[in-house]
Amino acid sequence: MTNSPGTASDGAGCIFCKIIAGQIPSTKIYEDEHTLAFLDIRPVNPGHTLVIPKAHYRNIFDVPGGVWEHVAKTARIVASAVRAGAGAEGVNVSSSHEPSAGQEVLHLHLHIIPRFASDGLKHWPQGEYKADEVRTMAEKIRSEIT
Ligand code: AMP
Ligand code: ZN
Repeated sequence: MTNSPGTASDGAGCIFCKIIAGQIPSTKIYEDEHTLAFLDIRPVNPGHTLVIPKAHYRNIFDVPGGVWEHVAKTARIVASAVRAGAGAEGVNVSSSHEPSAGQEVLHLHLHIIPRFASDGLKHWPQGEYKADEVRTMAEKIRSEIT
């Protein structure tokens, strides 16, 4: 697995590492020893917040379990604050892992997106399984669990 041009595995050249280091500005919402939450510069809805680990990991595939737990804990705290602060009815907590899945910034992050019944956003289209596909797919995935 390679990092994007300008982003080394130690985070050199990473825009979110620069935010953590204070080298570029951000609008901070929450910070603790392990994590940082700040407003997304291009919000889906106002109050859209990103939660990141302070240590550089590319995504879910290289992050240690303990760091993921810190990020999840912060996301839970921030989700309630975003919902209340933005006056939203709910939130989406979403995250993309690898560019093919839509990840543009290759530093692990969770999006906390305030949602309103009236905002008109749609979820992904969903499909259907063919006859035996549910069983074979489940078997393939189960066999990869480590
Ligand atoms: P993703 O496409 O999941 O990798 O999301 C990356 C997000 O980072 C996008 O929603 C961008 O708007 C956001 N972003 C990029 N640069 C900055 C920045 N300097 N400050 C805040 N958010 C940023
Ligand atoms: Zn980084």
